[in-house]
Amino acid sequence: MADKASRQPENVPGPWYVDMTCTPCRVCLDEAPNLLKYNDDETYVYFYKQPENEEETAAAQRALDVCPTLAIGNDGE
Ligand code: SF4
Repeated sequence: MADKASRQPENVPGPWYVDMTCTPCRVCLDEAPNLLKYNDDETYVYFYKQPENEEETAAAQRALDVCPTLAIGNDGE
């Protein structure tokens, strides 16, 4: 389970976040490329945009589901 106390600082404010356990394997980027992206030196990914509708929320949930290190979290859960 992702740890909101260790969220990457670049995550845009809001319920969805990536924590420090991102490797980054990049599989989540295939699920939610409009929400997640690499940091500048590609050592992790972070939410640069929060989901704003059902479709985007579903994409964020798919990214959470595929993450092998459980680095993606949602404060609302
Ligand atoms: S799937 Fe998880 S470990 Fe892989 S890049 Fe995304 S957040 Fe990082």
